[in-house]
Amino acid sequence: MRLVLLGPPGAGKGTQAVVLSNNYDIIHVSSGDLLREAVKNKTEAGNLAKSFMDKGELVPDDVVTEIVAERLSKSDAKKGFILDGFPRNEKQAFELAKQLKKIGEKLDLVLFFKTMGSTVIERLAGRRVCPKCGLNFHIKTRPPKKRDVCDTCGSTLISRDDDKAETIKYRLKVYERQTRPLLSYYKKEGILREVMGDLNVDDLFKELKELFVNEKLT
Ligand code: AMP
Repeated sequence: MRLVLLGPPGAGKGTQAVVLSNNYDIIHVSSGDLLREAVKNKTEAGNLAKSFMDKGELVPDDVVTEIVAERLSKSDAKKGFILDGFPRNEKQAFELAKQLKKIGEKLDLVLFFKTMGSTVIERLAGRRVCPKCGLNFHIKTRPPKKRDVCDTCGSTLISRDDDKAETIKYRLKVYERQTRPLLSYYKKEGILREVMGDLNVDDLFKELKELFVNEKLT
């Protein structure tokens, strides 16, 4: 299965991607995670990306496209992948299609996580992440067993720098302006499906399982 999860920040794409990845044994490729890793490792791409990410702006297309292409070229991507956060504009969508065509592949589905604005802001403001293993929590809906401590590795959870109220608002504007137009792009391609991002993780997963059966992907 080759999937793209599309939707505003905080729509639940990352959380659902982890569930899908575990259940269907395909890799989860989050462009945001790849970029954060590059920033942490102070690579050339990471140093370049940092100032854009801090402001909530999109990192230049060539930097992101290269990082994602490199990940997709690894052998574990052959079975399929779940792209989360990429593509984020039409240029990136063209690049992705081009790269897949080169290896005789194409996307199966693009899932649009439809959400109410209020859900998104609440989810992002309450999000806590593990800086070590990348697991996401939420102070109300998905609290860790012990306050501010990762259930899996015991590291202290943090708020992402770009989950501050001001940056959240800006990221949502960037989404509306640059990423939302992708909906009509993929609709025209006939592979866009709308799913309810406001549902809780388990209920949405049930819906997606049915969708994949109906689409004959599993
Ligand atoms: P995310 O974790 O998907 O919310 O991404 C965090 C930040 O990384 C975004 O606000 C952007 O600055 C950057 N980023 C992630 N994916 C992309 C992308 N496909 N294109 C450009 N910038 C991106």
